Amino acid sequence: MTTLIAVLYIISFSLFIYGLMGLTGPRTAVRGNWIAAVGMAIAVIATLLLPGMGNWWLIALGIVLGTVVGVPAARRVKMTAMPQMVALFNGVGGGAVALIAWVEFRDTAGYAHEPLYVAIASLFAAIVGSISFWGSNIAFGKLQEILPGKPITVGRLQQPLNIVVLVAAVAFAVAIAAGATSEWLIIGVLVAAAGFGLMVVLPIGGADMPVVISLLNAMTGLSAAAMGLALNNTALIVAGMIVGASGSILTNLMAKAMNRSIPAIIAGGFGGSTGPSGGAGDGEERPVRSTSAADTAIQMAYASKVVVVPGYGMAVAQAQHAVREMADLLESKGIEVLYAIHPVAGRMPGHMNVLLAEADVPYESLKEMDEANSQFPQTDVALVIGANDVTNPAAQSDPSSPIYGMPILQVNASRSVIVLKRGMSSGFAGIENELFHDPKTSMLFGDAKASVAEIVEELKNL
Ligand code: NDP
Repeated sequence: MTTLIAVLYIISFSLFIYGLMGLTGPRTAVRGNWIAAVGMAIAVIATLLLPGMGNWWLIALGIVLGTVVGVPAARRVKMTAMPQMVALFNGVGGGAVALIAWVEFRDTAGYAHEPLYVAIASLFAAIVGSISFWGSNIAFGKLQEILPGKPITVGRLQQPLNIVVLVAAVAFAVAIAAGATSEWLIIGVLVAAAGFGLMVVLPIGGADMPVVISLLNAMTGLSAAAMGLALNNTALIVAGMIVGASGSILTNLMAKAMNRSIPAIIAGGFGGSTGPSGGAGDGEERPVRSTSAADTAIQMAYASKVVVVPGYGMAVAQAQHAVREMADLLESKGIEVLYAIHPVAGRMPGHMNVLLAEADVPYESLKEMDEANSQFPQTDVALVIGANDVTNPAAQSDPSSPIYGMPILQVNASRSVIVLKRGMSSGFAGIENELFHDPKTSMLFGDAKASVAEIVEELKNL
């Protein structure tokens, strides 16, 4: 039986890794997801075959409850609500790890006769799992707008308080590792870690949540791997390390693409709201050139190459289907249409890819930042649809700008730029965009979906 379980675990890890490879491209992502899910089903079966399993009714109840809640929730969730769904699922993982550490504490009378590494790994899992559970719930609450998106803090006392609760959690854990067996100590570990998770995530602005969720995801993975070490369960170690490693890479990529350090994100104070944008640029009266849907349609109809630059505003307006219709019309006139995708356009990784895929835009037309930047000098019209920060030249030219150093889509290298947005509000970073005042740029004011629909009508009449 032990050999069978080991073989099943090896099959499941191979499927996890193979499935993960599928997630690297939109074409293979759905298949990759299914492969990894089959791997997880095999890992669950192998775990149920472990000697000493009991309480079959409770296990069946858990599976039924998980399926009844999880499947409809995952099927019904809107694409734009995906980050909060991930936060919730991730939090449940961290919570499960923390509870397993508690159960093990009870089962082994405070890890009394276990080697020291078992106690240390379990206590690490308890702390990190509990932080991840409570932190993820706050992230969910902020993105779902159950909690205010703006930073919630107790002011200057915040950092000292955070340190106090973290030190308390570690102190309780050290006492247990040193041989104390009172159950209140493990409860103390879990509660203090919960306090730390709440107090670290509450002061972070709603718009920074996707990065925080990715970080918490990596932490859940690490806590599961640590618990796997304590339980001598290879499935937990491998799956936990995969989640930990991929979550850390994603967090790092997102922080890099925003040119912000992870400690700066955790410290908060940037992008306090997920709601309509506003900020430094609001209300300023600098001249801009505005244009009409008719002029935009004519300009594009006489172009040979048009590059669409989607951003958060396209997601807000849900303009992707209208954009696809516009591109079809342009292509029917022999005009090449490409889409320039910035890695942090929108509010979650892959946001633009998902929206455009929903509108059946061909994957080949989507160009990642470096490739898109090499296309702009040969582009007649760059059509910026609800994107702002990801096109801001200040990121390259103004060392005092908060986004200085962030790689951007160099739309101003094209022959002309047309920006679709409702007004002159700033984007997520809350700063003015010099692009809007560039002599090459014209602004088409209005909701992106309505503006694109008007352009479509004009194109039909040409
Ligand atoms: P921005 O947030 O910079 O700008 C979006 C613009 O869209 C606004 O200026 C707004 O202007 C406009 N807009 C809003 N609603 C509409 C509408 N209905 N119709 C037309 N326009 C609209 O978006 P970007 O995509 O350029 O940049 C993303 C930002 O988010 C970056 O700063 C990035 O660092 C950050 N971020 C990204 C994450 C990710 O994983 N993708 C995670 C967290 C943060 P107006 O109100 O005038 O219409």
